[in-house]
Amino acid sequence: MMTERIVNFSAGPAVLPESALKQAQRDLFALPGVGMSVLEISHRSKTFTAIIEEAEANLRALLQIPDSYHILFLQGGATLQFSMVPMNFLRGAARPATYIQSGSWGTKAVKEAKREGDVVLAWDGKAQGFVRIPRSEELTIPHGTPYVHFTSNETIEGVEFDTEPAVGNVPLVCDASSDFMSRPLPVEEYALLYAGAQKNIGPAGATVVIARDEFLKQGAANLHTMLDYRVMAAQKSLYNTPPVFGIYMIMLVTRWLRDEIGGLENIEAQNRRKAALLYDVIDGSHGFYRGHADRESRSVMNVTWRLGDEALETAFLEEASRRKLSGLKGHRSVGGCRASIYNAMPVAGVETLAGYMTAFQQQHG
Ligand SMILES: *Cc1c(COP(=O)(O)O)cnc(C)c1O
Repeated sequence: MMTERIVNFSAGPAVLPESALKQAQRDLFALPGVGMSVLEISHRSKTFTAIIEEAEANLRALLQIPDSYHILFLQGGATLQFSMVPMNFLRGAARPATYIQSGSWGTKAVKEAKREGDVVLAWDGKAQGFVRIPRSEELTIPHGTPYVHFTSNETIEGVEFDTEPAVGNVPLVCDASSDFMSRPLPVEEYALLYAGAQKNIGPAGATVVIARDEFLKQGAANLHTMLDYRVMAAQKSLYNTPPVFGIYMIMLVTRWLRDEIGGLENIEAQNRRKAALLYDVIDGSHGFYRGHADRESRSVMNVTWRLGDEALETAFLEEASRRKLSGLKGHRSVGGCRASIYNAMPVAGVETLAGYMTAFQQQHG
């Protein structure tokens, strides 16, 4: 039986902190003092109440989330948020919603929003192949738009906003799925932000939504209960059975961020170091490796590149898997290679990959 862990660069579901996995493994047979696992207890029990409250408190403390914001644990993934956002805030609105389309995920969000009403694009990077993030002066934000939606990190193309787009007084909505908790965030600049857990903070099945109370109050009337943020906020995510295991894992992962990493400034510094290791190899390779994203738009979470000689890509990926470096194949829509180096990817794992890339170039360059 193989029980050794390999170096996992998967884009999602993705690597999780070892201490969180080990604790979950122990607790899955019986939570200490409870005699049952988190999978077997009522979501209204004292034990689970303590779990969801700690998950929320950890998120609140790490991100310094103001009291005027709700933290919700929902299901349906980030993809359901593509629909829930326009259902709540575009339905019945007098003006079109505004989307910044900087990659594949943003494009999917636009597609769902159009089912609810009119959408205008503040900027569209498609013609350029989604290789960069817009500069503030390139954005067109129409007057009276109900919200502006953007994707802070485009997981597939590997382009990331390094700061919030300047949208003036308009409510800002963000799909933060793949860089959530990778750095400190000025939450008060957002009306709502959401993240599927399986990139950076837990397993698939739970989605975190952080939303300003005043913004939620503006939602459309007569929504289906499960799709109405106000119900989920009023019921503290317990209108129906919530994704209990996902919430439990988020509790453990945020505990790890707090106690072992020491907060979001520290994880950001570590993440930047990891990304620099790979981008330095790419930039120093004289074209043997070619980064997909423009330099100033590069993602700290998902590093995307091609081999100058594309025929070598298959050999590169095969040799990588022999060396137990897994998940490096780029998304089918972009091709090439992608290393997802989320919070839980240790620096040593990235050093191993950087060393392999250098050795592969020496052999084949
Ligand atoms: C993975 C991802 C999604 C889709 O998430 P699901 O939870 O699978 O619905 C949406 N947006 C971004 C930026 C992602 O990385």
